[in-house]
Amino acid sequence: MVPTASPDPLPEPSPSPALRRDPLTGCWSYHPDLTHKPFTLARRHLPEPGGPCAFCTLAAEPVEANGSIRNGEQISPLAANGEHAFALENRWRPFEPTSGAQLVIARRHVTALEDLTVPELAEFLTFLVRLGARQGRRFPRTLCFVNIGLEVNGTQPHLHGQVVSTDLAVDAPWTATFTLESLDQDVLQAREAGLVVEEAAALTYCPWAPTASGEVRILAPEIPTLARALHGTLWRLRAVLGEFPYNLLVRDAPSLLAQVVPRLSAVGVLPDYFGLTVVTLPPDHIARDLRLAHDSPPDPTR
Ligand SMILES: [Zn+2]
Repeated sequence: MVPTASPDPLPEPSPSPALRRDPLTGCWSYHPDLTHKPFTLARRHLPEPGGPCAFCTLAAEPVEANGSIRNGEQISPLAANGEHAFALENRWRPFEPTSGAQLVIARRHVTALEDLTVPELAEFLTFLVRLGARQGRRFPRTLCFVNIGLEVNGTQPHLHGQVVSTDLAVDAPWTATFTLESLDQDVLQAREAGLVVEEAAALTYCPWAPTASGEVRILAPEIPTLARALHGTLWRLRAVLGEFPYNLLVRDAPSLLAQVVPRLSAVGVLPDYFGLTVVTLPPDHIARDLRLAHDSPPDPTR
């Protein structure tokens, strides 16, 4: 029989050491006691190239007078063109035809962000942020991201980032909650819990209430500073975790922020069905390990 009376509303959960709410995304995370059951970490896999690299081929194409490059029969307008990276308009659009999608591609064939030099990474991030800002003026929802590893939908072994925009309206909390106030709260919580990894020109910290296990956030005043801190952070994470799959999210409003979101465990259905992330790497452990780790690639001559 179908019930007709509404059930009593559930009490609002209150934050606790075990149950935490991310001020930036509004997502809840559960922090279990991992003493007796640590989770297995995922390792990064890369897709098989299956022939010549499509992006290396594009990178070698001459730019035509109208600012496009030709890829076989297809002509792709360039959204940005630089020494270390370039960007294509309207590639791999996941939403409806009126939405937007730009692809930012590293000129050099590398597979991960940390494989770029800091100046290369700075140009790559500049294009992501600049195109994100442009799209953000036209669409209510725009996200700039990079997927590293097959596990997180990294389908090409050549480094690239995406700017995806849509005017589809859904009731998702993060666009509304990402404000200067929520960012201040996020940083304050991290400071109080001793989760600052490094504070120099940029502030690198593990959020007290992460939306993903092992998440690291970097606040920086400008892109070159962000690139330097991000490069160091990714190498520290590799020293701690090994080669791991991850997403990078970059936002520039209300403040320049990079989120490194490792995808480490196969606790697959819990987040979607419970509305909770299960945090398999305690933020205080990862912050402690990152402070001790080297921030550059291991010396191959040693
Ligand atoms: Zn390539």
